[in-house]
Amino acid sequence: MNMYKPVISIFLCLLLVVGCSGPFSSTTENLPLQGIRITIDPGHGDTEAYDRFRIGPAGEREEWINLRVAKYLEKKLTHAGAQVMLTRGADKDLSLGGRASLAKIHGSQLFVSIHHNGSGNDPEMDLPIVYFFGDARMNPASVDFARILVEGMREKMVFEQPDAGAVYSDHLIYSSGTSVLRNTVAVMPGVIGEGGFFTSAEGEERLRSKAYNKLEAQVYYEAILEYFRRGYPTAVPILLDTVKYIIPGQVLEFQLDDGFGGSDFLGDFTVLQDQDSLDYSWNPESGLLAVQTVPMDAHEVSLQVFGRNKNGNALHPRIFEFDTQAGVEWHAFDFWGDAFSAAEELYEQLSFDENTADFLQLPIMEEALHLYQLSLELQIVHAKARVAEERILTLLKLKQHLSKEDLSEEIDLQQQRLDTYYP
Ligand SMILES: [Zn+2]
Repeated sequence: MNMYKPVISIFLCLLLVVGCSGPFSSTTENLPLQGIRITIDPGHGDTEAYDRFRIGPAGEREEWINLRVAKYLEKKLTHAGAQVMLTRGADKDLSLGGRASLAKIHGSQLFVSIHHNGSGNDPEMDLPIVYFFGDARMNPASVDFARILVEGMREKMVFEQPDAGAVYSDHLIYSSGTSVLRNTVAVMPGVIGEGGFFTSAEGEERLRSKAYNKLEAQVYYEAILEYFRRGYPTAVPILLDTVKYIIPGQVLEFQLDDGFGGSDFLGDFTVLQDQDSLDYSWNPESGLLAVQTVPMDAHEVSLQVFGRNKNGNALHPRIFEFDTQAGVEWHAFDFWGDAFSAAEELYEQLSFDENTADFLQLPIMEEALHLYQLSLELQIVHAKARVAEERILTLLKLKQHLSKEDLSEEIDLQQQRLDTYYP
C-alpha cells in the first residue's frame, strides 16, 4: 500500500531539465520523442527519519528505489528528445500539490509517478500494479498507457506473482483518488506505476540492484515510446482571443489532430457538457468537430471530448472550462467593497412597500442580490458580511412577493444561515 500524506514543504528552485540535442541528429529515428513533454515523479523522498512503513526487510527504502529508476528513465527520455520534468532529483521531499503543479507548469503530455509497493501482512506478495485516476470510462488515455506499462512490466521484469499484475483505479485505495493524479487529470493523462514489492525478500533484493533498476527504467521507456508511437491525439477549442465567454446554446468548434497532423479517428466521438452528452458534426477532411452546446443557467460550463485515433489511442478528455456571459458579469468586481457598495446603491432604489413594489423592480433586485452574494464570495467575512447576509434574506422575501415564485426553501436556508453563523 502507498501512503500519501499531505506534506507542506517549501519549493526549492527547480530547474527545467530540457532535452539537449548535443551530438544526436534531429531525425525522428534518433529522437523518437522529439518535442514530447513528460513529467517523471519519483514518489516520496527524505522520510528516513520518521517513516517506518516504506522499508524492506533488509533496509532498502522505497523512495531510494523510486529515485534511481526515475533518474535512469529521465536520461533515456532526454536522449530520445523528450523534455522531461523530474519532480525531484535527490532524496528530498516535495509536496504532492507541488508535484502536480510542476507537471502543469511544464505543460506535460503525460505524468508518470514511480513507486514501489509494500504489504504489511503478506511478505510473499510481489506483483506489478499501475494505477490511473477515477473512472476508467472518464480517463481512457491514462488507461491506455497503464495497460502498455503493466504488460511491459509483466513481460520483462521479475515478480513472484507476475500474472496477478493489473491496472487499477486509484479510487480503490482512496475514495477521492491519489492527490498527484487527481490534480493533473484535468489537463493530462497520468499513472502511478508500482514495479514490485519491497516487502518481499526476493523483491527487495532485485529492487536494490542498480542493473535491475535500469531494466525497470527501460520498461517505462519502452512503454512511453510505444504509447507515443500510437499517436497522441488532441482536441483544441477554437475561440478568438477577443471572446471572453461562451453562450451556452452556441456551436463551438474543436480542431482535432490524430497525433500525426491528420484527422484519422476511429468511430464516434462523445462530447460532454458537464454531464450531458452533446450533438456534434464531424468533418473528417478538416478535422473540425462542431459541437452544439446546450443552454444552461450557470457561471461556467465545462466541455470534454472523447474519441480514439486510428491506432486506438484515446484523446485525453481534458476539461475545458469556459465562463458564460453570466459568469463574466458575476466576476465583474474583484474587490468585495466595490461589489457591496454597488449592491447598496441598488438596494436603496428598491421599494419594500407592498403597495408600491412591483415586478418592474425584479431586475434591480436580482442584480443587488447577486452583488451581495458576490461580495461574500470575494471575502467571506468582510466588514459588512452580516449586513450583506441580512439584505440577501430581505431581497429573497421581496423576490418571492414580486415574482410569486415559491422561494420558501431558499428563504429558510438563508434564515438558518444567519441563525447559525451570525449569532
Ligand atoms: Zn509509494
